[in-house]
This record gives sequence, C-alpha cells and structure tokens, in this order.
Amino acid sequence: MHYCQSCDTPVAMEPRDGHAVCPRCGRLDEAVVGPLFIVTGASCSGKTAVLAPLARRLRGRCITFDADLLLDSAGALSGGQPINWTAFLDAWLAVAHGVAQAGMPTVLLGPFIPGHLRDLPARRWTGDVRFFALDCPDDLRRARINARPPWRSRDTDEQVEFGRWLRRNIPDRFDTSNGTPEDTAAAISAWIDRHLTGTPAK
Ligand SMILES: [Zn+2]
Repeated sequence: MHYCQSCDTPVAMEPRDGHAVCPRCGRLDEAVVGPLFIVTGASCSGKTAVLAPLARRLRGRCITFDADLLLDSAGALSGGQPINWTAFLDAWLAVAHGVAQAGMPTVLLGPFIPGHLRDLPARRWTGDVRFFALDCPDDLRRARINARPPWRSRDTDEQVEFGRWLRRNIPDRFDTSNGTPEDTAAAISAWIDRHLTGTPAK
C-alpha cells in the first residue's frame, strides 16, 4: 500500500508509530493509523436507514460510509465475474487509512465480521477495528425481507442464520424493532463516543 519512493525497486513500507518506514533504506513518511468502526448486520437490520441520520450526528467527528457505495464500481472492476469480496473489504480499509490522514475515524456500514479482516493487506494500516451489530428478531427480519422490492434478493434463510451468528458473536448490539433510525443512530453514536473518549490524540 505504501511503497518506498527512494529505493530503485518498489519496496513495501512498514507501519511504525504514525509513519511508513522503508525496511531497506529507512525512509520515513508520515502515515497515520486510525480507528475503524464497523456497523454490521444481516439484511433488513436497518443499516441503510441509519446512514443519513448517523452521518449527520457524527459530522465533524467521524466520516461515515455505506459499503454499498462502491458496489457498482466493484462490479464494473470485476469484469462480469463475481465480486472479489476480500478485495472489496481491503479497498474499504484503504479508504479508512486515507480518512485517518485527516485525523478522522471511519465508520463503515456493511455486513462484515471480524474474521473477514484477518490477513487483509491493508489491515496493518488500520488501528483498532470495532464491531457493532444492528439486529431484529428473526420473524421481523423474514417479514422485512419479503416486503422489499422484487429486484432485491430473497436469501431469507441465509440472512436469518447470519443474524443469529452476529447475535452470538458481536456483544455490542442494538435492536431496531421498535425505534426509529434516529434512535439507532443515537445508540451507535453513543457507542462510538465511549470508544473515542479517553483515546489520546495522535
Ligand atoms: Zn527505501
């Protein structure tokens, strides 16, 4: 991701204390590593609905993205082949690293799990990665999926199973059954504030 601009051949630089260091010649470039907050959830958990109110609440403090924003581009880049989801998530880590240079944490809405991040090339250029899951009861998820427009996928059983997995494995959660997207945004914002408060400025 960072390649040495001094060496004669492209040497991958290493992250160290807010810098990228060339292991061959010792060149030092500034490269801030910042936190990433991932808001995950199975289909119909409320991720899309919370995007606008969450981005508004966090304005000036975090940069908020919906991972689907790059979905059409990823499809175009894959040239008719299925999207490479590993590369897709790695691209988002690279975006988060870019955002960190402006001193901002990134908040990413997308159906990711901690295991997806392991071994991604850009992972080492990202600081702490924390997960928050949006959830709803299984019956409500089934009803919400069935009520979607016909062009949306109907992988109901897989999504219910994914929702159950997240419920078992992601301790920080919010149930979107009854509240509004504003309520969801407030819960996510409070969770982020808990992690950012007391974090020393870099
Ligand atoms: Zn070098």
